[in-house]
Amino acid sequence: MFHVEHNTKYYKPFKLFHVKHQLKNINNCPICNSKNLSFWRSAIDHNVSQDEFKISQCSNCNFKFTNPIPTENTIGEYYKSDTYISHSATKKGVINKIYHVVRTRAIKQKETLISSFSSNKTLLDIGCGTGDFLGYCKKNNWNTIGLEPDEDARKLAKSNNNIQALPLDELYTIKSESKDTITMWHVLEHVYNLNQDIEEYKRILKPGGHLVVAVPNCSSHDADHYKEHWAALDLPIHLYHFTPNDIKRLMENHQLELIKVLPMKFDSYYISMMSEKYKGGNILTGFWRGFISNIKAKKTKNTYSSQIYVIQKPKT
Ligand SMILES: [Zn+2]
Repeated sequence: MFHVEHNTKYYKPFKLFHVKHQLKNINNCPICNSKNLSFWRSAIDHNVSQDEFKISQCSNCNFKFTNPIPTENTIGEYYKSDTYISHSATKKGVINKIYHVVRTRAIKQKETLISSFSSNKTLLDIGCGTGDFLGYCKKNNWNTIGLEPDEDARKLAKSNNNIQALPLDELYTIKSESKDTITMWHVLEHVYNLNQDIEEYKRILKPGGHLVVAVPNCSSHDADHYKEHWAALDLPIHLYHFTPNDIKRLMENHQLELIKVLPMKFDSYYISMMSEKYKGGNILTGFWRGFISNIKAKKTKNTYSSQIYVIQKPKT
């Protein structure tokens, strides 16, 4: 199982701008609510602002999260990068051809995964981008709906994939116990009202339904190796830097059970190559590091660069 995070979404063309610093402090750990926080590390936003952001670590439960974070009104500016455009915009070149093959395969694998535990096929994909994943699911008899903050992406979801994509606020209007499966492919680490929204996912799922979450793993070998250069820190748009244990505890706080963890083996290569780029290294070294990361992860449980977490709502 693998996944390509960034290129599956649609991003607006790069514009020169100066982000107005509107930052918000987080005073309590989002998982255990402790106020006992310490500085963990800082890292640069390589995509847009080139500014430095800090990450806090909870002294009680070790959870790591970006702190302070841009306000919800200003975070959009930090998504306006041109580095993600190339793959989605053009099919020219060998790397893009490989990318498209990998991506198509990843979409099929995701659909196979969710089909393995959902007999009734009602699906909500949060952060659906231009709807390629949902489009494939729809062709495979899923009843689909998507939520997506970017208006242009929502329009493309309709025109390219005939997918109905709604603004994020519609989450709160979706009927209770109406979906068998909710998917979030590299989305949970971007969610502002984390605990409030997890309660919504739980409300929307049918009893016994599944929440499928893919996020980077802050305790992977490539995360340890690259430290502040690790590309999946992705500050400031990644608000949380999860480990498998964090996901388990977070979900348990909402009476949801983590039942399965699956690797995303392609992400280690992609993230390691990006990380090498950030630290001024060689892309081939990054490819090698991705390989090492996967080998190490095979020996140690749940330590892949990015992982898929299958979470279940109680049946009764
Ligand atoms: Zn904590």
